[in-house]
Amino acid sequence: MPEPLILQVAIDTPLYRLFDYLPADTGKPAEPGCRVRVPFGRTFTVGVVMGVSTHSDFPLHKLKHVSEVLDTEPLLPPDMRRLIHWAADYYQHPIGVVAAAAIPKSLREGKPLDLSGDSLWQITASGSQTDVASLVRAPKQSALLGWLTQHSPADTDALTSFSDNWRTAMTGLVAKGLAEKRIQPCLEINNGDVVTATQLNPDQQHAVDRVNASLGQFQTFLLHGITGSGKTEVYLALTDAVIARGKQVLILVPEISLTPQLTRRFRQRLSQTIAALHSGLNDRQRQCAWGMAARGDARVVIGTRSALFTPMPELGLIIIDEEHDASLKQQEGFRYHARDLALVRAKHAAIPVVLGSATPSLESLYNAERGQYQLLQLKQRAATNARPPRVEVLDVRRRPLQDGLSEMLLQHIRNHLAQQGQVLLFLNRRGYAPLLMCHECGWTTDCPRCDAHMTLHQHSRRLHCHHCGHEKPAPSSCPQCGHSELWLPGAGTERIEQALGQHFPDVVISRIDSDTTRRKGALDDKLEQARLGEARILIGTQILAKGHDFPNVSLVGILDADQGLFSTDFRGTENLAQLIIQVAGRAGRAERAGEVFIQTHQPDHPLLATLLNQGYTGFAQAALAERRHSELPPFSHLAILRAEATQSETVTDFLRQAKNLLTTGKVLSFGPLPAPMARRAGRQRMQLVLQASERRDLHAQLYGWVRALGEIKGASKVRWSLDVDPADLY
Ligand code: ADP
Ligand code: ZN
Ligand code: ZN
Repeated sequence: MPEPLILQVAIDTPLYRLFDYLPADTGKPAEPGCRVRVPFGRTFTVGVVMGVSTHSDFPLHKLKHVSEVLDTEPLLPPDMRRLIHWAADYYQHPIGVVAAAAIPKSLREGKPLDLSGDSLWQITASGSQTDVASLVRAPKQSALLGWLTQHSPADTDALTSFSDNWRTAMTGLVAKGLAEKRIQPCLEINNGDVVTATQLNPDQQHAVDRVNASLGQFQTFLLHGITGSGKTEVYLALTDAVIARGKQVLILVPEISLTPQLTRRFRQRLSQTIAALHSGLNDRQRQCAWGMAARGDARVVIGTRSALFTPMPELGLIIIDEEHDASLKQQEGFRYHARDLALVRAKHAAIPVVLGSATPSLESLYNAERGQYQLLQLKQRAATNARPPRVEVLDVRRRPLQDGLSEMLLQHIRNHLAQQGQVLLFLNRRGYAPLLMCHECGWTTDCPRCDAHMTLHQHSRRLHCHHCGHEKPAPSSCPQCGHSELWLPGAGTERIEQALGQHFPDVVISRIDSDTTRRKGALDDKLEQARLGEARILIGTQILAKGHDFPNVSLVGILDADQGLFSTDFRGTENLAQLIIQVAGRAGRAERAGEVFIQTHQPDHPLLATLLNQGYTGFAQAALAERRHSELPPFSHLAILRAEATQSETVTDFLRQAKNLLTTGKVLSFGPLPAPMARRAGRQRMQLVLQASERRDLHAQLYGWVRALGEIKGASKVRWSLDVDPADLY
């Protein structure tokens, strides 16, 4: 008897296994990587064949047949399947969920890969030679043909603006051979003129040469270049070189706001088809970019973290920009780190990876220090005349802060505006004030569902909880004692914007935070307005700190450094130092000398002192010494089991049992402890932290442990998740 063929299928369901099926009755083969429709429970679902075997743990007669094979060619090539297997193992996440994350939604639902773009109608040679007057018996066709002589090729929008019912006339013209329809590719094929490459300086050239010498083998480079040192030019030169060898390049950036900017720069410089992949795309656009890359038609992919899962048959180089940025780590569901997985993908593919940053993560610096990564440095600003900014700490102790702004800072702003400078103020808190407080009885605007205050948004006169989304109208008097004087301690970006409007009534002020950029395209518009210098004062949150190039900014103000100094998380100081350096880097990018002012009540804080006196590298060395001393990453390896439920006893009980299931002394566990915000959205939250000196001990433990957690009594009442290599302990 021939050996049975068993298909091992990944299905998007939270179980740590593949599902066995028999081939379709039709006999149509399903190679690994192809999608199949399968009976699952009482319905049907779409899965991906990850492997084939001759053996199943289930009796053969119990296995069902695949009902339909959806692909003739594998949708997921072997290297992507290998990465999915690896990631599911490493992050201890159900493999079907991981595979689903790697595929655009419409493909996941079983639709065919469709790379056709918009339709265009154009006049044919015979149409151009036809006298429109000869179509007297068809006046609508005659008019359309006349219009087409001027407007060919035309898309449906243009045609509809010409006439609402152009389709009938067009059908007539097409039948007569006077016009024809053409389907555009879904992605613009770029083969137009490009601007010539910048002459690299010796440091940049050295970096490019080193990476070029490693093409075709696995090697990780840490490109540590100060802001404005020309890292992007290095990426461009490398991409050019790799494409010239017939290979593809994958570039990951942390933020969606960075993709259009970087994509534009690449399109200007490379006459290549470049696909952008980020969360702002609709499903058709995403499928297009993904498919074009998978077919090798797009030579460059620029995207946010999930673009890491784009199949690229000729991948030759991976570049991760802003490699320190926490947005590269997914914070929910399948909690992977795109940088760490990129290294795995590169290793499998035997290609180099470049990690770029002005403020590398402590992990990466440590890896460079011990020779795991090759360090490439750019220590000078690249543009002629560009100088590093001057940094000054503004001690705001015992000085009145008006709406969060000190008189000293206001004076500096006045000076810069008078000299035609542009001002960028950073405050990582949106809204008007972080809470309302009653002067009489001390009542505060607590969120009923979280251990947090509700933020006042003045524009809408509403209170918002930034943690659970709860909102309600702001009271005009104290709901507890009726007193009418409500105090507003602290300031958010909305308040700063309002105060600045009073100080500088004639100046265009632009607030850039998630409240003002919700509309699609709003962020791009605002960034463009900022770049062109139309807005003279920019006030914003995180969004402004990232790698944007605002050539006219001469003054940067960090309004509240104290928030970060008091963070309880082990990465708190690292993140603050990176933020200060990144924000400061927005000043003086071009001709103008920059100044940076940091408002703080802690002018003598050792972190600030080290950072200002010894720079980021000095800070990083001190911070690494501290991590080594307290045995925190990268000197140990962490995983967190987070759990929440409506009753705190349920959570504690679950985590206690989970702790009892640990079998090795090589993994230490801390907890159960309340999460830093113990109640959120009405649920009680606790966590158990696991720590091991050796990564393999941690992983050896996690495998069986995670699979046993679902068996714990009461587990069904608990919502839990495992986070391997957590970005923070929240
Ligand atoms: P980074 O990515 O490190 O912040 P960019 O690549 O954006 O730096 O470069 C910063 C500025 O310096 C840009 O305006 C860029 O055009 C300019 N620049 C980069 N390299 C050179 C060079 N070799 N010569 C002159 N100008 C350069
Ligand atoms: Zn009161
Ligand atoms: Zn809340």
